[in-house]
Amino acid sequence: MRSGRYSAWRLIREGLRGHRGWGPAWRSPEPKRHYDVVIIGGGGHGLATAYYLAKHHGVQTVAVVERGWIGGGNSGRNTTIIRSNYFWPESAALYDFALKQYEALSQELNFNLMVSQRGILILAHSPADVDMRRRSMNGMLLNGIDAEWMTPEAIAAEIPTLQMRRYPILGGVMQRRGGTARHDAVVWGYARAADALGVDILQNTAVTGFQFDASGRVAGIETNRGPIGCGAVGLAVAGNSSDLARLAGFRLPVVSYALQAFVSEPVKPCLDTVVLSPATGAYVSQSDKGELVIGGALDLYPSYAQRGNLPIIEDVAAGLVEMFPCFSRLRWLRSWAGCVDVVHDSSPILGPTPVPGMAINCGWGTGGFKAIPAGGYLLAHQIATNRAHPLAAAFGLERFTTGRLVDEAAAAGIAH
Ligand SMILES: Cc1cc2nc3c(=O)[nH]c(=O)nc-3n(C[C@H](O)[C@H](O)[C@H](O)COP(=O)(O)OP(=O)(O)OC[C@H]3O[C@@H](n4cnc5c(N)ncnc54)[C@H](O)[C@@H]3O)c2cc1C
Repeated sequence: MRSGRYSAWRLIREGLRGHRGWGPAWRSPEPKRHYDVVIIGGGGHGLATAYYLAKHHGVQTVAVVERGWIGGGNSGRNTTIIRSNYFWPESAALYDFALKQYEALSQELNFNLMVSQRGILILAHSPADVDMRRRSMNGMLLNGIDAEWMTPEAIAAEIPTLQMRRYPILGGVMQRRGGTARHDAVVWGYARAADALGVDILQNTAVTGFQFDASGRVAGIETNRGPIGCGAVGLAVAGNSSDLARLAGFRLPVVSYALQAFVSEPVKPCLDTVVLSPATGAYVSQSDKGELVIGGALDLYPSYAQRGNLPIIEDVAAGLVEMFPCFSRLRWLRSWAGCVDVVHDSSPILGPTPVPGMAINCGWGTGGFKAIPAGGYLLAHQIATNRAHPLAAAFGLERFTTGRLVDEAAAAGIAH
């Protein structure tokens, strides 16, 4: 039995019947011997790819193969910020496509993603910072993305908890359509919708190798549950991308790092926007439960570990307290890390790989949660049509040989 459609009427009916009629949100099927398409990685990007393959391209049999539990990677470990305040036209188009989808995704997936467009404010602390932020704001406006310059007075009026003079704030760029969405709801929403379209979600299934036909085209995967044949493979494994590429016989310009996040004990509502300060190296928002959700920079050296180091915790705590001294007496409730896939131009890799029949979606680094609807849509398009969608055209692997990089380091930085 599947979960069926969620609605207020259904909630009342199940409430009256003792909540005995809810089915599981997705099945746990046994692997089939063969699928038309196998997607490796049960994070947001992998699940969204499977959903769009089934929904828009009519692919009959699709499996998402996940070595742990869905959302156990970065998709369930991030600080939930969504935004499209990027500089270059290619990136702005990509991330705004995702943000527009987020605006309607709860209805489409019939799952409350708790999308909250509370605005994201990026602070400027020096005259040089002001120049850079204004440049980025003008870039956004030229790209058709909403952006507004906020004076120190306007910022102080809107965010009274922010200390304006300790680490002087000279202004900031606000994107009002930016904000947050609940990360595991995005994973669960796509999983449930994909399952309803017949996609098999295979958890606890680790990919350990690939099978190829005589022409060198990918023909299947090896897993800890045995081999599974397939017509095509999509890779969406974030920090493990270079690992899987090695198994398939090619190399990627991806370096994996731990990225940490932290939450405080819950407090009453005191911060109703996302505030980010590249200069202090910290950003913060408040969750609906009242916890402050805090993030900062990458750990300093490459690693596949999903745990972080103390120096970054100290830096982030110091940066947060520079901005909000009133938070200094809050207790850290918990912290964790994900393993993020960083590319040197801070832009994603979306497109075919050197292996025929295998396409890839990775390189989102510290900022791919906001891009999940776009990454899934575009990888599905690549797999189903064997062509890059115009929105993905600039992000193929060939840019590392042609040199046409899309350098978004300033937008990616700590700016989730
Ligand atoms: C602390 C932190 C904060 C962040 N904050 C933000 C933010 O605020 N906003 C934002 O936009 N982005 C943010 N990000 C980045 C964002 O979370 C990621 O870019 C995004 O979630 C990547 O999604 P994904 O589906 O590609 O990868 P993942 O969610 O990591 O999924 C990949 C999956 O592949 C699986 N896998 C790996 N190897 C194998 C294998 N051999 N076989 C089978 N499965 C395998 C993994 O188990 C994993 O579940 C943050 C990341 C972190 C870590």
